[in-house]
Amino acid sequence: MKDRSLRAHFPFFSHPQNQQLLYFDNAATTQKPDIVISTITDYYSIHNVNVHRASYQLAANTTSKFEQSRVFVQEFIHARYASEIIFTKGATESINLIAIALAETNLPEGGRILVSATEHHANLVPWQQLAKKKGLHIDVIPIDSNGCWQVEQGLSLISDKTCIVALGMVSNALGSVNKVGVFIEKAKQFNSITVLDAAQAVSHLELNVQSLDCDFLVFSGHKAYGPTGIGVLYGKQARLNALPVFLTGGEMIEKVDYQTSSFQPPPFKFEAGTPHVEGVLGLHQALQFIQTHRVEIKKNESALVDYLRQTLEQVDGVRLFGDADNSIATCSFIVEGCDSQDLGTLLNEQGIAVRVGHHCAMPLMNTLNVPGTLRISLACYNTVQEIDKFALALHQAIAKLN
Ligand code: PLP
Repeated sequence: MKDRSLRAHFPFFSHPQNQQLLYFDNAATTQKPDIVISTITDYYSIHNVNVHRASYQLAANTTSKFEQSRVFVQEFIHARYASEIIFTKGATESINLIAIALAETNLPEGGRILVSATEHHANLVPWQQLAKKKGLHIDVIPIDSNGCWQVEQGLSLISDKTCIVALGMVSNALGSVNKVGVFIEKAKQFNSITVLDAAQAVSHLELNVQSLDCDFLVFSGHKAYGPTGIGVLYGKQARLNALPVFLTGGEMIEKVDYQTSSFQPPPFKFEAGTPHVEGVLGLHQALQFIQTHRVEIKKNESALVDYLRQTLEQVDGVRLFGDADNSIATCSFIVEGCDSQDLGTLLNEQGIAVRVGHHCAMPLMNTLNVPGTLRISLACYNTVQEIDKFALALHQAIAKLN
């Protein structure tokens, strides 16, 4: 396994502070390759200007780099037009943008929004707020005792009343890859608006918005080796044209007088104010990193997650959740007779960073009838040796708690 060469791109791991750390919280945020860090440093050291405003050379150069990044994102997710790519603060803001803007439109009285039982709060709470404002009802795709979607039952919830279908492509809490395609297909029969939350998919799966045929797709940069504070909202051109504005102010306008204003077409219509320039440039490099190393990343992560799952299956009392046959690099589990928080504390004492709790998916944990799980989420730079060290520490922690 060629994990060393990928790992060598990440200065975080060679810093003396982190050399002994096992970082298994990649679903929360990933570490950054040196090209992302140097791009941000270079922006502030050499290229720092505002974009889209001034005509002097430096401003034109940085604006051109910024817009090239938009084109790169377009190509990365196979969107038809660069104008379908909106830069936001992250997946949370992208979903809120859609939900807040849709509140200004005519949604059918008594309409329904379909989500799944495994959604991250970011893909649930904004829809609850919209439902409250517009008198809509939320339907939920049910799950089995492992947390896997019950697809047929879920599909039967889509009807001519369904105005929005908003689904996570990959569960952040469990790692399962969800069958979103059949839901989009059915939603389209009723002209429902389809939204895909790709926050946990973007660093692991190749995304093609044209073949997915979704209306909107969102993700955050920081979960895909990019900077924090930057994310993407993809929207089909016709849907973006029809969507009312979100934030207003500078840059998103076409013409302003004291009483009224007219707005630019997308993407600028949705990008009020000074954008996160270094975030956009860093995101470009992060996605370029994924694209360049995609084969190696996939090979490494699938070998690692198989090894992790096998390792956990051998530990007495471990109950694994999620879809064993269709998961990305995450394992979520409890150990019968052990409190997950206590296990997390003991692992932390061994320098192992894992996530314990509801993973921003409280309704999911309630449905699974557990207070929370222990989640190991891997990325391309993790190693088999790290999993072996973790397994030893887990055995020791369980022995201590029994
Ligand atoms: N959706 C999913 C599936 C996530 O895992 C997360 C973050 O964990 C989000 C949305 C929200 O992302 P952010 O906090 O970057 O806005």
